[in-house]
Amino acid sequence: MNDAFLMKMLWNLINKPNDLWCKVLYGKYGRNGDLMVTIHSQSYDSPLWKALTGIWERFHQNIVWQLGNGNKINFWLDRWTPSGKSLFSTTNQSFIDTTLSVREVVNPSGEWNYDFLISNLPSTIALQVLALPAPMDTDGHDSIGWGGTSTRDFTVQSAYVYQSVGGQTFEGDWKALWSWKGPHRIQTFMWMAAHERLLTNYRRSKWGVGISPMCPDCDRDNETTLHVLRDCPKATQIWIRLVPSNQITNFFSLNCRDWIFRNISNQPQGIQSKKWTTTFLVACWHIWTWRNKTIFEDDFQYPTNPTYIILKMVDEIDNCNHNPMNLYHGNTIFIGWKKPQEGWVKLNCDGAYKDSLELAGCGGLLRDSDGRWLTGYSRKIGTCDALGAEMWGMYLGMQIAWRQGFNNLQVESDSKMLVDMITGKAGINGKPPTLVRRIQELLKLNWQVQINHTWREGNRCADWLANFSFSLNSFQIHVMETRPSGISSLLFDDISGACMPRNIRVIV
Ligand SMILES: [Zn+2]
Repeated sequence: MNDAFLMKMLWNLINKPNDLWCKVLYGKYGRNGDLMVTIHSQSYDSPLWKALTGIWERFHQNIVWQLGNGNKINFWLDRWTPSGKSLFSTTNQSFIDTTLSVREVVNPSGEWNYDFLISNLPSTIALQVLALPAPMDTDGHDSIGWGGTSTRDFTVQSAYVYQSVGGQTFEGDWKALWSWKGPHRIQTFMWMAAHERLLTNYRRSKWGVGISPMCPDCDRDNETTLHVLRDCPKATQIWIRLVPSNQITNFFSLNCRDWIFRNISNQPQGIQSKKWTTTFLVACWHIWTWRNKTIFEDDFQYPTNPTYIILKMVDEIDNCNHNPMNLYHGNTIFIGWKKPQEGWVKLNCDGAYKDSLELAGCGGLLRDSDGRWLTGYSRKIGTCDALGAEMWGMYLGMQIAWRQGFNNLQVESDSKMLVDMITGKAGINGKPPTLVRRIQELLKLNWQVQINHTWREGNRCADWLANFSFSLNSFQIHVMETRPSGISSLLFDDISGACMPRNIRVIV
C-alpha cells in the first residue's frame, strides 16, 4: 500500500472517528491514545496498523491547524499560521510559555496583543499573524487541516505532491502571479484554475447527477482543467505554435499544478522567454473564454487565427507596462461611481498591497444617496495576499455599517472573486476562510444588504483609503468621521458623475 493512501487512512481515523472501519481499527489497536499526539504498535498488531504507525511521523509533519476560536491551539508548538511552521521554530526568545493558547494572545478588546507579537516574533511572522482575523467565540472550534493544500482538506493528490517535492510549498509562486502586470481578471482566473475551481464538466459531474464528465469538444477524455487548457486538441494546436519546439515534451508532461506554477514563475527549468509568463496567462485565459463562448453563446465563431489574437494581447500588455499612458486599443466604455437609491447607503471597499513593504492594507467609505460622506475607514493589515486584503476591507466596512444602524446597504468591491465567494457563485473547496464566514454571518442579520462587483474605476475612493492605510502608525482600524483632505477631488469626481474610460477588449 502506498504512503499517500496510508496518510489518507490516518486522516480519516482522526477526522471521521465515527466511521465504522475507523471505529473498528481504533478500537482494536488504538489503546485509547490520542492519535494527534502519537500512535504505537506492538509486534502482534496487524500489518496495516504497523504501516500506519510507521507513516505517522511524516503524516504529523503535514498537519496544520485551522484557526477557529483559538482555544485548542497551542500558540508556540502547533502549526497554525500561514507560514506552515510552528512559531516555536521562529522565535529567538530563550524562554517561552509552552502552555499558551492562541486565544490567550488576544486582548480583552478582541484584537491581537500587538506588543506581545512584535516583541516575541520576527517581524515578518508577526505581520502574518496580525493579518489573520483575531479569533472570536463565534468562529467555532479549531480544526485540523492538511498542510499540502491551500484549502486545508486532505486529498490523496496533495499527498503525492508533497512527496514529490519533498515538502516544499509553492507560496512564493503566488507572488509571481499577483505581481504580474496585466488585467486583474486574468490573475483571478489563473488563481482559480490552479485551485481546481474552474467549472469544467468533470467538476460539474461530481456535483450533479446525469452530467457527463466528458469534454464536449473532442469527446475523448474527461474535461478536467488540464484537459481544457492544454490537452484538448483545440488547445494543443494553440500551444504547439507558442511553445518553443525544444520545450514541447516537457510542457505537455507536467501535472496541472506544476504546469501552472512552472509557467508563471519563470523558473530556470521553464521556458526562457521574457514574455513567457504573459503569453502563458493570456493564452490560458483565451482558451477558457473561447471554450465558454462555444458552449454558452449560440452565435459564437471560434477565431480562425487564435494565436494571432493571443500574441496581439501579449504585445499590448507589454507596451502598456513600458508606457502606462499607452492604453489598450479596443472599445472604450465609461465607468464611474453611482449614488445609491434613496434610503440606501453605499459601502465601497478595497484592499491594497505594497510590494516594497510586503504589507497589505484595506479601506473604504460609506456614502448616502446624495453622495455625502458618512464614514470612512482605513486599516494597515499585515502580510497577506490580495484577496485577503479585499476580505478585510469588506468585513470591516460592513461591521461599521451595521454598528451605525443602517438598514439598507449596498456593498461594492472591485474583487469579482470575493463577490463571487460571498454570494456563493464561486465554489469554495472545504471550509471557507474565516473572514468570508464572518461576512456571511453579517448578511444573516436583520437588514438588507446587496453585494455587487464594480470596476476599479468606480471604486477609486476606496482604493485611495486602502492605500492611505500605509501611512498609519498602528495596525488598528482608523475610522474617519470627516473626510481626509487628500480624497476631496476623488469624492467630487464621484458626486459629479465623472466617468473614467475603461478599455474593453472585444474578440473579433
Ligand atoms: Zn477535449
